[in-house]
Amino acid sequence: MAIQSNIEQIRSRIAAACVRSNRDPAEVRLVAVSKTKPASMINEASAAGQRIFGESYVQDFLDKIEQVTAPVEWHFIGGLQSNKVKYLRGKVAMIHSLDRLSLAEEINRQWAKLNQTIEVLLQVNIGAEETKAGTTESALFELARQVAELPHLRICGLMALPPWLEDPEEVRPYFRHLRQLSEQLRELQIPGIEMRELSMGMSHDFEVAVEEGATLVRVGTAIFGERTR
Ligand SMILES: *Cc1c(COP(=O)(O)O)cnc(C)c1O
Repeated sequence: MAIQSNIEQIRSRIAAACVRSNRDPAEVRLVAVSKTKPASMINEASAAGQRIFGESYVQDFLDKIEQVTAPVEWHFIGGLQSNKVKYLRGKVAMIHSLDRLSLAEEINRQWAKLNQTIEVLLQVNIGAEETKAGTTESALFELARQVAELPHLRICGLMALPPWLEDPEEVRPYFRHLRQLSEQLRELQIPGIEMRELSMGMSHDFEVAVEEGATLVRVGTAIFGERTR
């Protein structure tokens, strides 16, 4: 019950943020971040109408995917080592955390085996934080050009994990900046690249992210409760 009402509340907060910013709520998809949480909780969220789930740890994901019976869509949002990509092959619809060419090449190799294409987002280290993954802004455009050459990946937007700041208003400039980067990339008109998705906003700042143009918000704690890791 708690999960269902949490999801309903988040959906109405997203809708309210859309009203404030003159956006169509249909443009914003909620990614329920279920990392470290059991399959039973995912099934419960799914029964409440939640469709997209975000996972960050490959082994944890593999351990529970079989127990999730509902037709859900999995997004991989966490740091990814190239040697683990094969375990995700065919199981995830989108990878939000692509930040280097070597990883893109391995994803391309694995999805080639399926003769399929996977949607990816380029993760940008928008706060230039040493501890965070993501390509630097200066390397972003070159990375986009290189990944665009790979036939089994389709770049469809950008993702960022901005600095954690107590006041979500202080995160707003980072969200706005990610949107500006995506507009700059769109203007380059690189063949094969679409800039329709902005994956930004988490439990404590998703409303600001929606106001700044997020199309995918990644919300974990506010749906499933605190995590122990
Ligand atoms: C864990 C995680 C989230 C969800 O964070 P919450 O604060 O629990 O909503 C979102 N994005 C990424 C990349 C994460 O790893």
